[in-house]
Amino acid sequence: MTIDLHTHSVESDGTDTPAAVMNAALAAGLTTVGLTDHDTVAGWDAAAAQVRRINGGGAERVDAGARCANAGPKLRLVRGAEFTCREGGVSVHMLGYLFDPTHPKIADHFTRQATARIDRAKEIVERLAADLPLTWEDVLAQLKGGAAGVVGRPHIADALVAKGLVADRSAAFASYLSAASPYYVPQRSPRPVDVVGWIVDAGGAAVLAHPKAPSRGKVLEDSVICELAEAGLFGCEIWHRDNPESVRPALEELVARLKLCPFGSSDYHGTGKPNLLGENCTPSEVLSELEKVGRLEVVV
Ligand code: AMP
Ligand code: ZN
Ligand code: FE
Ligand code: FE
Repeated sequence: MTIDLHTHSVESDGTDTPAAVMNAALAAGLTTVGLTDHDTVAGWDAAAAQVRRINGGGAERVDAGARCANAGPKLRLVRGAEFTCREGGVSVHMLGYLFDPTHPKIADHFTRQATARIDRAKEIVERLAADLPLTWEDVLAQLKGGAAGVVGRPHIADALVAKGLVADRSAAFASYLSAASPYYVPQRSPRPVDVVGWIVDAGGAAVLAHPKAPSRGKVLEDSVICELAEAGLFGCEIWHRDNPESVRPALEELVARLKLCPFGSSDYHGTGKPNLLGENCTPSEVLSELEKVGRLEVVV
C-alpha cells in the first residue's frame, strides 16, 4: 500500500490537471491518492472520473471483465482540500478529508476565501507594480484552469517567471514573494480551531499540514496543536519535507500523546515544486481510520 494524501492540481497552484494528477499517482505506484487543492473542491469530479476510468469502471467501461473479482481497484481517491488559516501571525494549513462540500459552513467559507484571496493578491501585485513591469492581468493569465478565487503567490511567481524577472517559482518565493519582503501581504484567513469545527460539522476529518515548516515564518506552537486536538483534530502530518528531520521525533511523540493519527505526504504540485508523489506516505491503518470517520466514500 502506497498512500499519499496531499497533492495539488491546476484547480489551485499545481501544474497538472486533476486527471493528470491521478495518472501521475498511478505511474508513481500509489495505491491511494488524496487531492487537496487550496480552498476549493473544484477538481474532485474530474479526478473521480479519471480514477473510475483507470479502474475500468463507470461510463468508460468497455469490458465487464476489466475489473476482475480479485484484482481490486488500481487506484483509490480520497477527496480533500487544504484550508488556509492564520493563528497568531502564523500561516497554518489545515487539510480536510471526506467532508460534505455542500455543508453551508464549508461552502460559505470557500466563497468568502475566494474574495479574500483576490483582494490580497491584488495588493501584492500593486506593491510589486511600483517597481516592476507586472500587471494583475499577467497574474490572471497564470491561472492554469482554476478560478480566479484560488489565486495565490504561486501564480504571481509564475507571472514573474513569464516576464523573465525571476528564474522559477522557488526563486520568486526566495525574493519578491518571501514573507520577509516589503511586497508581502499576509492572507486574511480564519483561525484553524474554527476550520477544524467546520470540517467536523461537515462530516470530515481535519489533519494539520506541515506544522513545523520553518519557511512559513514562525512555526506553530505545540500548545496550539493541543488546542486543535481538543477541538476535534483527527491527525497531523509528520513525514513531510517541510517538517525538518530534527523536529520529527518530538512531533511524533506529541501526536501519539494527543492520540492523533500520523500522516506522511508529498504535497505534490506538478512541476511547481520539487516534491515527488509518494516521497512520504501515510500508514494503511490511518487510512482505515479516516474511512471510518469520513462522511464521503473513497472513490474507486
Ligand atoms: P500563499 O498561500 O498565496 O501565501 O502561497 C503559499 C503557497 O505557495 C503554499 O501553499 C505552497 O504550496 C505554494 N508554493 C508553490 N511553490 C512554492 C515554492 N517554490 N516555494 C514555496 N511555496 C510554494
Ligand atoms: Zn500549494
Ligand atoms: Fe500547505
Ligand atoms: Fe499543500
